[in-house]
Amino acid sequence: MSNPVTLLALSPEETQERVVALGGKPFHAKVIRTAVFSKGQLEYKEMTSLSAELRERLAVELPILVGREVDRVVARDGTTKLLIEFPREDGRGPLIETVHIPSHDPAKDATLCVSSQVGCPVACPFCASGRLGLERNLTRAEIIEQYLRGRAVGPLARTVVMGIGEPLLNLVELSAALTVVREEMGIGARKITVSTVGFPDRLEKLSPTKPGFQLAISLHTPFDDQRAVLVPAMAKIPISDILRAGDKWFQDTGRQITYEYVVLGGVNDTQEHSKHLGERLRGRRATVNLIPYNPVEGDRFQRPSRADVEAFADELRDAHVVTTIRWSRGLDSDAACGQLRLRAER
Ligand code: SF4
Repeated sequence: MSNPVTLLALSPEETQERVVALGGKPFHAKVIRTAVFSKGQLEYKEMTSLSAELRERLAVELPILVGREVDRVVARDGTTKLLIEFPREDGRGPLIETVHIPSHDPAKDATLCVSSQVGCPVACPFCASGRLGLERNLTRAEIIEQYLRGRAVGPLARTVVMGIGEPLLNLVELSAALTVVREEMGIGARKITVSTVGFPDRLEKLSPTKPGFQLAISLHTPFDDQRAVLVPAMAKIPISDILRAGDKWFQDTGRQITYEYVVLGGVNDTQEHSKHLGERLRGRRATVNLIPYNPVEGDRFQRPSRADVEAFADELRDAHVVTTIRWSRGLDSDAACGQLRLRAER
């Protein structure tokens, strides 16, 4: 028996066709989508302007959420990590993570970090998500479901596609999901950041289309030979090609790139690294975001010292590169990307 069509897999036009086929009026489609995407109503029984009969039929024939929250870990600072399982006809389905990160400022809404794939083919050695390989791409419905579940934890101001997976390898489904996030959930393009390891050919094709999101590229080192080790799927792609694609992105979209740099203690945090990175980025319209590494159980990498990270940032700033440091949130709750899933799969 196949799974029913789900609301989150449908466009507004397709929703209308489906609702009419189930006995509703065309305008009911808008009522339903507004209830789900704007008001956060996740069950038809809450939509009391629809007849009881239609609500019952919709619940069976056009389900809203199809995943199951199998674990939830809340850190002392309120960071909430959800482990979600999506159903599969032959039994237990894939697990993915979504993280709701409250703002430092209690008056401001949170950021949601979502996953784009089940597992990741890039296989960075410091990342729990890469350890189990790629199982499959997430569908648009599964990506949107993360937003609805995340917003149920608390209001969202912004989002980063920085969880499990490489977003540019699942761009069709991701773009469809982000259209709903922008147009129906009200999170603007400037508040959406997609983080990639930076495939130059894909970026060069994509940037003239001015996609509705900001771009972050994970660099992690200024040296090609070391990047081949830290980002194995990009071993044959020179960093200079990635930076060129980043410059073109800025020319085409007018939006600056953020270069993400996970700082691994004793590996890529030396003065030689910061000096060379500064030379590569000097004069470019870009920002560097340093992310001190979050240790993953049983791996060989270490968290850098605060002094080393700050010295690294100072060196970049001396080269006139705008630099921020993102100290990880939720260190007491399997905070690094993919750790919860790795533990559950084991
Ligand atoms: S760090 Fe990102 S790109 Fe690398 S394996 Fe993890 S999820 Fe994939």
